[in-house]
Amino acid sequence: MSATTAAVEFDADSSRVRLDANLEAEIAGYFSARCGGIDAGESDIHEGLRFLAERGLVGASELPTQAATVRSVAASCMSSAFALWAQVMVITYLDRAESAELRARASLLRDGTLAGSTAMAGAFQDADGFRPLDVTYRRDGDDLIIDGVIRWASNLRPDGFIMVLGARDTDGNRVIVAVPSDADGLTVRPFLDLLALGGTASSSLELSDVRVPASWIVTESFDTFVDSVRPTFLLLQSAFCLGLVDAALASVATHIDRAYDGFRDEYAALLSELDELSGRHSRLLTSAPAKRDLIEIRLGGAALAQAAVALESRVVGGAGYLANSPTARRLREAAFLPIQSPTEGHLRWQLAALAS
Ligand SMILES: Cc1cc2nc3c(=O)[nH]c(=O)nc-3n(C[C@H](O)[C@H](O)[C@H](O)COP(=O)(O)OP(=O)(O)OC[C@H]3O[C@@H](n4cnc5c(N)ncnc54)[C@H](O)[C@@H]3O)c2cc1C
Repeated sequence: MSATTAAVEFDADSSRVRLDANLEAEIAGYFSARCGGIDAGESDIHEGLRFLAERGLVGASELPTQAATVRSVAASCMSSAFALWAQVMVITYLDRAESAELRARASLLRDGTLAGSTAMAGAFQDADGFRPLDVTYRRDGDDLIIDGVIRWASNLRPDGFIMVLGARDTDGNRVIVAVPSDADGLTVRPFLDLLALGGTASSSLELSDVRVPASWIVTESFDTFVDSVRPTFLLLQSAFCLGLVDAALASVATHIDRAYDGFRDEYAALLSELDELSGRHSRLLTSAPAKRDLIEIRLGGAALAQAAVALESRVVGGAGYLANSPTARRLREAAFLPIQSPTEGHLRWQLAALAS
């Protein structure tokens, strides 16, 4: 199949931008069949990225198309949607890099040849004034020498990835750099068992005297760069929150007839909240959003996902408590949303700071 970018349209019934119905069905079929194996860490999550790449859906030029894809994948497999988010973010960083060499490498991520790892939690925390970066750099001629520990990063594919991260020098200057997985001094620590997202190749890394040539510096205009990628970062995270809500509420719909009647009001309230958030999300995808709107949609999406999976669990009952049931998987996946950077604490702190 050739890599053409799929068009999206606004669906007034669900207040959201959607991919073509046939493509959505194809995505649902593909990822539903593989999600159990990915969740168990037994299947290769990157095959899904290649499946999407063949359809022009990895690093699509239009943000609404990319968001509709992330949401659609998340409704079947949250781990795959998270991997897609990471891949798209690294493409977004490389597309904006000042170095032509880095911009050229984005095509290797668009076609799924290389994985993209966004180790940018620290950069966002630093840019927002929440917590300073603890990865450091010093200059050696035109090169930078990087040291420190990345506590978490994903898409650490053993056969190759490009990681993008921020670093600070002793004078407080900050840069964003890209590092290939085979760089001398870069060590990926062993993968550990996780509550969910165990198939996302997530771990921590050490950087010890890692040499970054000038051509691998993404930018030295740190704050401007973080601000420029923030809408994509947060709106795609919100998309996978909403995809999880779609799946949980679809499951409620199939079980509600045999459940306690009192759950119907709660179900109706969550559907209405989903409609409202979807409408806001769709508008933000096609505008120049304010920081506050981005924070609110990300916080709202995570909270709604947690409420939706909690209702799903009560409505489905004991069958949802089987460890490998989709309901149990979604409960575990939703627990990730408030601790994914920007964490709920970070976002709430930011909202309070904007208000004062
Ligand atoms: C499976 C998995 C995959 C991940 N993948 C990635 C990835 O690909 N890329 C990436 O960048 N990150 C990734 N992360 C990290 C994630 O985005 C968060 O940064 C991380 O989960 C936060 O946990 P922490 O232990 O670092 O907590 P901390 O950041 O230390 O936070 C713990 C608590 O303290 C609060 N806190 C921290 N600092 C302050 C402060 N200065 N003032 C007030 N409160 C504060 C936080 O809000 C939070 O409530 C991943 C995490 C997991 C679990």
